[in-house]
Formats: sequence, structure tokens, C-alpha cells
Amino acid sequence: MGTVPFDCPHVGCLTKTVGLELMYSHSPSGVKGSTFGFCPVCQKGVILYLEWKNRKAVGEAHKLSGSQFWENYRIIDSAPTPPARDVVANLPDKIGMVFDEAEANFADGRHMSAATMYRKSIELTLKDLNPEGKGMLNARIRALQKEEAVPDTLIKLLDTVKFLGNEGAHDDEPPSPEDVERGRDFTRLFLVYSYELPARVEAALAKDEPE
Ligand SMILES: [Zn+2]
Repeated sequence: MGTVPFDCPHVGCLTKTVGLELMYSHSPSGVKGSTFGFCPVCQKGVILYLEWKNRKAVGEAHKLSGSQFWENYRIIDSAPTPPARDVVANLPDKIGMVFDEAEANFADGRHMSAATMYRKSIELTLKDLNPEGKGMLNARIRALQKEEAVPDTLIKLLDTVKFLGNEGAHDDEPPSPEDVERGRDFTRLFLVYSYELPARVEAALAKDEPE
């Protein structure tokens, strides 16, 4: 069994240069194939997609460690892949900056900071959409639902996110990685619905207008 340093791609772990413990390799051709290992920190499995460098069959990859491994193989991809930073189009500058920081924190596994910045992205959006709005964050999003500015399905998703729930409750303990992932999904969709989608619809309509 070999060990190869790799950044764990699992959300909730993301340990840098962890010694991935290789268990098994599969390669019909020897030239390309995959090797399966697990992260000793979170115990979750990772597949590395490999290509040979020195004519040593990829089927043998799991038997090699460290420099021997790197001399013989190139990692082309992994499954899962680490979380990538997302970009939403047409965001006002300030909201774009805050959302980008949330994404950077999320990609690096800093979940408390990510949750704080996702929350801030939503607060700024609410202020932008409805400057008169008052009250708790959750109630203000629901007010938009009443005006049909937010779809009901999105509210259902919101209800599953603890750190976007009632004020006060979210400060007591760090949110779980799963909770932050759902909150991230909500925030992205909320921003897309509020800014990206209207701009795309407008662009599509502009194309149909006679010259
Ligand atoms: Zn891990």
C-alpha cells in the first residue's frame, strides 16, 4: 500500500497535503487508469485519475509512495474534485466582493467565515432590493416571497439552512459543513434569481427588438 500527498477534496475536511492511503488501481491499458485511496483524516475515499510517465503500468500505482509515485505517474483529475469558487453575473460590486470572499472561504474549508459572508451577501441584497425593509433576515426574505420576488421552492431550501434561521441561534455553535453547503446553494440561487436572471432575460428580449 502506497501513500501519496494530496489535498483532500472532501468538503468538511479539505486537509492539505494529507497522505492519501492507496488501496487499489485499475487500468486496462496500463497507460491511463485510476487508483483508489482514502484520506486518513476524514476516512473518505478519493479516486485519482492517472497517466503514466515512465512506462510503469498504472495498475501498479497503489504500490508506490511519494517520489516514486511522482516519477511514474501524473494525476490528471480526481473524484470528487475540490469545491470550486462560483461566480454570479451582474452582481453590484459590493455584493460581488462579499460573495467572492464567501466562496474563497468555502473552497478553503473555513466554514464559519463562509457562513458569515454568505449571510452578509444576503443582507446586502435585501437592502438593495428593498431599502425600506426591516426586521430579521429570514422574515425579510419571506416578505419578498409574498411579493413573488422569490420563488416558493427557494424558501423551502432556506428553511433547511440553520445558519440562515432565526437571529441569535446561529452564533452559538459553528455550522456543520452540510449546513454551510445548503446555505451556499441558497445564497447562489438567491443571487442568480435577483441579479443574473433578470439581466439575462433583458438581454434576450433586447435581441428581439426591431432595429
Ligand atoms: Zn479528508
